[in-house]
Amino acid sequence: MADHSKNIVYLVTGANRGIGLAVIYLLAARPNTTVLATARSLPTDDDNNQSSVFSSIVCHESSSLIPILLDETKPAISSSTLPARLSSAGIEHINIVIANAGTATNGFKSVFDTTEEDYRNDFEVNTLGPIRLFKGIHGLLEKGAEVSGQESKFVVVGSSVGSTGGLVTAEGEMEGGMLVCGSYGLSKAGVQWWVMKLRAELKGKGGEGKVVVGVVHPGWVKTEMGQGLADAVGFRAGPPLGVEESATGVVEQVDKLTMENSGQFWRWDGGVLPW
Ligand code: NDP
Repeated sequence: MADHSKNIVYLVTGANRGIGLAVIYLLAARPNTTVLATARSLPTDDDNNQSSVFSSIVCHESSSLIPILLDETKPAISSSTLPARLSSAGIEHINIVIANAGTATNGFKSVFDTTEEDYRNDFEVNTLGPIRLFKGIHGLLEKGAEVSGQESKFVVVGSSVGSTGGLVTAEGEMEGGMLVCGSYGLSKAGVQWWVMKLRAELKGKGGEGKVVVGVVHPGWVKTEMGQGLADAVGFRAGPPLGVEESATGVVEQVDKLTMENSGQFWRWDGGVLPW
C-alpha cells in the first residue's frame, strides 16, 4: 500500500485517453509514486460491469494511481474543490502537475471560418483550464516542495501552433498546420504566454525556489486530436508520432525541468521552441 505522504505525487489532467493516458502508464510504473489521474467522468456503481480505463494500469508495488473527477465547468468537481477532495483521499501535497487536457472543440479552421464561439470554447479549456488548476492547487505544490526538499513543477502540454515566434518558416510562409488553427492556436498561445508571465512572477516573489514551470509540445501525435488536424489539412498519412513515443518524450522533459531552466518551451524530443 502506497504511503502518499512520502511519495512523489503527480497530477495529470485529461488522463483518460490519448497522450495523458500514455503518460500515466509511465508514471505509475515508477517506485514511490502516487498518480492523480483526472477525468471528466468515471464509471459509478450504477454503471454495471463498466470498468475505468485506469483499472488496466499496472502500478509499481510502492506506488498507486488515484482516479480523480475534474471538470472545470462543474463547480462541485472543479479545481477549487481539489484540495478538500484530495485531503479526504489522504493527499496533502502535490509535486508535479502535467496540465495535459486540451481540445479543439469545433475542429481546426482558418481564422476566416472560426467563429466567436469557437474562440471562447477553446479558450475556456486550453487557456483558462490550466490557469484555474494552478490557482486551485498552488498551495499543494508549495507544500510538495517543502515535503520533498525539491522544487515542485507545473508543466502545461502546449503546442507548436501556439508559438508566435515559430509562426512562419524561414521563407516567410505560415506552416501548413497553423493555417487551420484559428481558435486552438490562439488558446495555446494564450496559455503559453501565461506560463511565461507566471514564471516571471514566481521569480519576482522569490517563489521560484518552490515551483518551476514549463511548456512541452508533444509532437504531432496519433490521437483523436492529432487525427483531427490531419483530416483538416488533408494529410492522408496521419500524424507521424505514436502516443508512447510522445508520452516518453513529454515525461523526459518534465523530469529535466529545474529551477535553472524554468520557463522553457520544449518539444517532446528535447528541442527548444520559440515562444
Ligand atoms: P485527445 O483528444 O486524445 O485527449 C484530450 C484529453 O483532454 C481527454 O482526456 C479529454 O477528456 C480532455 N478534455 C477535452 N476537453 C476537456 C474539457 N473541457 N475539460 C477537461 N478535459 C477535457 O488529445 P491528445 O491526447 O492528443 O492531447 C493532449 C494534449 O496535447 C492537449 O493539450 C493537446 O492540445 C496537446 N497537443 C496534442 C497534439 C497532437 O498532435 N495530438 C499536438 C500538440 C499539442 P474527455 O475524454 O472527457 O473528452
